[in-house]
Amino acid sequence: METRDPAGTRALARALAAAARPGDLISLVGELGAGKTQFAKGFGLGLGVTDTIVSPSFVLMAEYRGRLPLFHIDLYRLAGAAEALAGGLIDERQGEGVTLIEWAERLEDAMPAGRLDVLIEGTGDDPRRIVLRAGDAGYARYIDAVPADWAAAAESSKAAEGLTAGDAAPDRSNQ
Ligand code: ADP
Ligand code: MG
Repeated sequence: METRDPAGTRALARALAAAARPGDLISLVGELGAGKTQFAKGFGLGLGVTDTIVSPSFVLMAEYRGRLPLFHIDLYRLAGAAEALAGGLIDERQGEGVTLIEWAERLEDAMPAGRLDVLIEGTGDDPRRIVLRAGDAGYARYIDAVPADWAAAAESSKAAEGLTAGDAAPDRSNQ
């Protein structure tokens, strides 16, 4: 998917939250400023979280109340997997809610394969390219939850780019 502003990223995440089930694990991967926290804010809205979700950089894990509890973790300041596991990062309580982990790639092999990866490319004012990858068949429901009109919107914006960019689509205007 592509989003052109933070509200777009939040809207996508909000729609995806409809697919959330207890015990889900979602890995948010992208550079600093990619929009991982924006995604978490939108996801929280979709779960009915009313508290403001902020960057959890100064706590290991923040917990919010919604339709399901939301556990928001940021590993930005964490050196390695061993440290995280020693801190009890993934514990039984999280089985009742959805866990979103920013910089989850830092957990390396300690990260369970059963998860949804949300890969966000782009920073600054650039549009974001957001890729969802289901770690197992159970997580495919998130991909099914992408609004149908989202794909249509992306297609129509691609078509519009084709008309102006020249390279992407043949320019028939002067034939
Ligand atoms: P991260 O948690 O990945 O470090 P944040 O979500 O905290 O990133 O910040 C993303 C920044 O990029 C915000 O300042 C936001 O306003 C800006 N931004 C611009 N365009 C987008 C977009 N399409 N999606 C998400 N954030 C965007
Ligand atoms: Mg963040």
